[in-house]
Amino acid sequence: MTVGSDHQAHDLPVIVIVGGGVSGTAVAFHLLQRRSLRVGQLFIFEPRERLGAGLAYDTQDPAHRINVPAAKMSLLPEDLEHFQRWLLAKDALADDEAAVAANGSLFPRRSVFGNYINSMIRPSIEDGRLVHIRQNVGRIERMGNRWVVTGAAGQRVDADILVIATSHPSPVPPQSLQDALAGHQRFVADPTGPDALAVIRAEDRVLVVGNGLTSADVIASLELRGHKGPVTAISRRGQRSRGHAAVKQELFGDFASQPSTTALGLLHRVRAAIRQAEGEGRSWHAVIDQVRAQGGHIWRALSVAERRRLVRHLRPFWDVHRFRIAPQVEAVSERALAAGRLEVLAASVATIGVADGVIDCTLRLSRSERSVARQYDAVVVTTGPGHRGILTSQRWIEEMSKAGHLAMDPARLGFFCDMQSRALAVDGTIVPSLFISGPLARGTFGELMGLPEVIEHAVLVADQLTVAITDHCRGQGKAYLDSSAA
Ligand SMILES: Cc1cc2nc3c(=O)[nH]c(=O)nc-3n(C[C@H](O)[C@H](O)[C@H](O)COP(=O)(O)OP(=O)(O)OC[C@H]3O[C@@H](n4cnc5c(N)ncnc54)[C@H](O)[C@@H]3O)c2cc1C
Repeated sequence: MTVGSDHQAHDLPVIVIVGGGVSGTAVAFHLLQRRSLRVGQLFIFEPRERLGAGLAYDTQDPAHRINVPAAKMSLLPEDLEHFQRWLLAKDALADDEAAVAANGSLFPRRSVFGNYINSMIRPSIEDGRLVHIRQNVGRIERMGNRWVVTGAAGQRVDADILVIATSHPSPVPPQSLQDALAGHQRFVADPTGPDALAVIRAEDRVLVVGNGLTSADVIASLELRGHKGPVTAISRRGQRSRGHAAVKQELFGDFASQPSTTALGLLHRVRAAIRQAEGEGRSWHAVIDQVRAQGGHIWRALSVAERRRLVRHLRPFWDVHRFRIAPQVEAVSERALAAGRLEVLAASVATIGVADGVIDCTLRLSRSERSVARQYDAVVVTTGPGHRGILTSQRWIEEMSKAGHLAMDPARLGFFCDMQSRALAVDGTIVPSLFISGPLARGTFGELMGLPEVIEHAVLVADQLTVAITDHCRGQGKAYLDSSAA
């Protein structure tokens, strides 16, 4: 079935958003907020049942909590407490007393945040202004001025404007683990799948590869499932995601006026600010939060070579300080560490093999010549989405890249795009009517992973779509403002 031609007859553009997680849904929501704009027909391709959940919030695991306080996770950037008020109005925490942290901040289950975003977009689906096509996109081709988007089940939409918001590719386990453990019943290569941890038994010895937020989620989920066996969590530096400040902190430091032009200069400046903050009785959180708030300025001041240097050397430290663990999830890891059930090592897997179902491995300890031999019953990979292979992560992305419509950004973090989030070809020319929304645009915008930045970026993309829609209508000599709208 093909759609799109009807709207062409009316000379209103057809817009397709690929991916209906928070990014894609927020773009649609903010575009549809412009009541006086005749948007045309808007489609989102998203295989999940609910729009607005995506990888992060499409989880029914009660151990999975948002890692940013609810008061900072709003769909409306001008009304930061909107989600928090929604929680209270819907009594959404009635069965979840643990959602309230010691300092009063709310950290509800992640599925509840998915419900919130979905509740905000649902009216637009019900009144037909947005069409949710529950299919994966399988193919996208450029034909004349249009994008022909074909779903895996055959639905075709001819679009005038295309937005890619597919963000997080599936995790890619390290090749050595894949080679040695493929087919092992308790090798969990992707713990984000529904009930992925169900294969792990209560007494199993578990190796968790990765030490970030997903690792903390896994440890909390295992505890909730009654797991009692020993757990080893490894990463090269042995750094664990940090928790939130005990007391709410005001932002501290200034990194935006006269921003650093080198990664090293930035590091010195951040360290100096932390020393000063701590000398005044504040915590490092206040400084890191300011770096995050001013992340766009900081990123823009760095050359491509310095951006790469920053990603290579500082990102592991940035990630564990900037992506904080929810207090309830942190408490589980702390309890397990104190009880000696959890061991966190700076190490990598040197050798691994299976004998009679038991996983034998040697862990090479970082910054040391030593190795330790261990046996496990299960291995869980928590190294996160495989962003590095983004251009080959899906066939249609690979094909668009070969056709010159998508390219890796110079910092190698996502798709190449400009400050209007318009896709750029390898040579830097603008690809007409193609926009990138969400974390895939972070090579250009800098910090663009957490929800607050993702929403701000979605508003920017909705602004740019408004420009593209008006240009499209002007080109056709048609009205783009709805005179009947208030
Ligand atoms: C596990 C996890 C937990 C997180 N928790 C938090 C948190 O608590 N607080 C916070 O601030 N940030 C959190 N984040 C950061 C997260 O990046 C943002 O909050 C936000 O969810 C990003 O949403 P997205 O829509 O850009 O990406 P995604 O959630 O990855 O959504 C992309 C969507 O695209 C769809 N898709 C992919 N391919 C296709 C295709 N071919 N056709 C159609 N659809 C397709 C997918 O099904 C998916 O639903 C978390 C991230 C992860 C991975």
